Amino acid sequence: MKVKNKSIRGLLAKYQEISKIGSIEALLSWDLNVNLPPKAAHFRGEQISYLSAKIVDIFLDGEFKKLLDEANLAANLLPEEAAIVRNLNKASEFYHKVPKEIILELSRTTSEAYVSWDSAKKNDKFGEFLPSLKKITELEKIIAGHIGFKKNPMDALLDMHEPGLTAEFCRDNIVSLQPKITELVKKIQKSKGYVPKSDLVNSEKTYPMEAQKQLANFIAGKMGYDLAAGRIDVSSHPFTIDIGRQDVRITNMYKDADFRDSFTSTMHETGHALYEQNINEDYTGTPLAGGVSFGMHEALSRFWENLIGRNPAFLKFMAPIFSAFYGEQLRGTSQEALVRVFNLVAPSFVRIEADEVTYTLHIILRFELEDEIMNGKLKVADLPEAWRAKMKKYLGIVPPTDREGVLQDMHWSGGSFGYFPAYALGNLYGAQIYYKMKETINVEKSLEQGHLADILYWLNEKVHKYGSLYWPDELIKKSTGKSLDSSYFVKYLEEKYGLLYKI
Ligand code: MG
Repeated sequence: MKVKNKSIRGLLAKYQEISKIGSIEALLSWDLNVNLPPKAAHFRGEQISYLSAKIVDIFLDGEFKKLLDEANLAANLLPEEAAIVRNLNKASEFYHKVPKEIILELSRTTSEAYVSWDSAKKNDKFGEFLPSLKKITELEKIIAGHIGFKKNPMDALLDMHEPGLTAEFCRDNIVSLQPKITELVKKIQKSKGYVPKSDLVNSEKTYPMEAQKQLANFIAGKMGYDLAAGRIDVSSHPFTIDIGRQDVRITNMYKDADFRDSFTSTMHETGHALYEQNINEDYTGTPLAGGVSFGMHEALSRFWENLIGRNPAFLKFMAPIFSAFYGEQLRGTSQEALVRVFNLVAPSFVRIEADEVTYTLHIILRFELEDEIMNGKLKVADLPEAWRAKMKKYLGIVPPTDREGVLQDMHWSGGSFGYFPAYALGNLYGAQIYYKMKETINVEKSLEQGHLADILYWLNEKVHKYGSLYWPDELIKKSTGKSLDSSYFVKYLEEKYGLLYKI
């Protein structure tokens, strides 16, 4: 990568250190989640905070700030130089704009809040979490004020998680999908022969862990995951961690009674890993390394998990392979039943258990509640009731407890207001990418033959390689020829589930 500007060269030298500390921190986090002896938890927490503080120190360092100010004034920057400056502004914005006392208070409040949320969820008592949650929402409002926004404090919070995202955009492109999705769910539920579950995964059947592991390795390899630059381990929640371009690891979790989860979550995590493994090598150790945003990362992981992994054409290819591994458990299962078990649709209380169709409704509900709280239209104390009302309206079911309702996710205890829409955004980007890809690749035919290489090649050339060079809105335009258009996602759901459920 060519860098002419002297201040940017200085910034890159300093960033090398941030990048190295970040990768050591990532390795410690991987170890924390995969190997840590229980007694080491506190010590590991101290090690990780020590490294995080070092990174903050570099961002706040006078010399770094001076170089960044100079770079911001420089004219005629090359596209990569301009992207480096933009990304460093973004990465340091929180520390440069929000006073240190507020950051420290948020950190104290969220540590306490995690404990009270955890206990409130266990005891199904929202009241235990209420004081912390009130304090967090007040701090989030203060932070939004320091970061700055034009119309809505949510804009500042959304932008911290997904560059450029605004509340208005969420309403126009995500919330607006709700009536159509709710309608589709109702149609599916009323379809002939509709069943919300399958005996293949709701019975006494056991799917041996060894076979599940072999299948996970098979599918990750088939997708093109470079196991010489990564590894697959077991953890309580599957995740991907980017330690460096040559060390991108994934984890998995195996359930005895359900063979689907380890398969689809391997595809999900491998989707994240393929993004990181295929970024332009020149960007290593610079602010252009790494996937550009959480939303784009989820787009690619969900693309593999849902649009490929749950695609009927691909499941037809997989059917004999599943039978070879689970001969006894799947005996007599038709191809149609196998496709169906991967594509069951039923409203559920809990977001992380939601299917591909209902998932976005869970996100819309959270976004609307956050937006109302941040704009003073809803009191924190009234959240449980507002939650139930929206569940009823959007999904047609009401959670019997707050544990399965407002208390289910830990995000708010960590101060992550404005985070959820990126999950939905991932679905939207993914569908748009899918239709663009279909213009040049016969995706269904490739999937029937189990041929995934041309799909990965397309993603490498159109998305992966750019790393953080383009922001999400520019990247989707570059790769598909147009700005985000949420109608692709609805079209995808209607086409796929229309065929599956004959509606
Ligand atoms: Mg993910």
